[in-house]
Amino acid sequence: MQLKDQVALVTGGGSGLGQAIVERFVEEGARVAIFDRSQERIDEVVKALGDKVVGIAGDVREVADNNRAVAECLKAFGKLDTFIGNAGIWDYSKTMVSTEDGDLSSAFDEMFGINVKGYVLGAKAALPALYKTKGHMIFTASNASFYPGGGGVLYTATKHAVVGMIKQMAHEFAPYVRVNGIAPGGVGGSNLAGTSALSQQGIKFSDIPLDDLMKQMLPLERAFNAREYAGAYVFFANRRDNTPGTGGVLNFDGGIGMRGF
Ligand code: NAD
Repeated sequence: MQLKDQVALVTGGGSGLGQAIVERFVEEGARVAIFDRSQERIDEVVKALGDKVVGIAGDVREVADNNRAVAECLKAFGKLDTFIGNAGIWDYSKTMVSTEDGDLSSAFDEMFGINVKGYVLGAKAALPALYKTKGHMIFTASNASFYPGGGGVLYTATKHAVVGMIKQMAHEFAPYVRVNGIAPGGVGGSNLAGTSALSQQGIKFSDIPLDDLMKQMLPLERAFNAREYAGAYVFFANRRDNTPGTGGVLNFDGGIGMRGF
């Protein structure tokens, strides 16, 4: 029970990595608010976990939705200890050269809107409550925050931006609120969506042969599922073991950059 009596708010908590974080936090004694754009996914998680969780449907790109998510969390659980920015989309490694100018412009706005603006607005909404609890923020970065080839130019740029955002927030919010990130590699069991601007709604993440790919790419020679990533979030949220940490991003990716030459 590493998170007994703690309260967290998880964006994108209805699926994949976010859902695994929610489940693990509840297992560790926390109560969790799930903020996701899919009411259907929220309903499934709430049904499975009962009164330890509440769901708020909305879009992370909207100021009002972020404020409402924090307000609903406070109404249900009385406080907030950990804000987890996690909702994101991918570009399915679409190359710039194969993308028309207009599509590139709209996809840039969509990708940065969800992956970066969504994190910034969520942090802003959560900050007053986190100042009160001397709480912390954790953001999902990616192997694409450090290395090329984990997406196209747009996705990689958003995830690099997340690292800069984490460092600047850690600097600005100290000594009251700690801010850290986790950079997972490929997440088994994810439903990571593509961009609407690039008409990628029909593509399914589950169609990617992740196990085969990761076996070839990673020094650890296998894919990891969402539940295997969730423990790192518990570590960062844990008030006992992570008091010195702020502004850090944990490479948690099966050793992607460790192949060498
Ligand atoms: P997922 O699609 O399974 O989960 C993401 C959730 O975010 C979904 O429930 C979706 O409804 C929600 N969401 C998307 N856009 C939203 C919006 N505008 N407003 C509110 N909710 C929204 O995907 P996942 O793989 O679990 O992705 C979670 C995070 O992990 C993302 O930040 C992603 O970039 C990162 N990541 C994923 C992988 C991977 O291999 N899947 C690898 C590295 C990093």
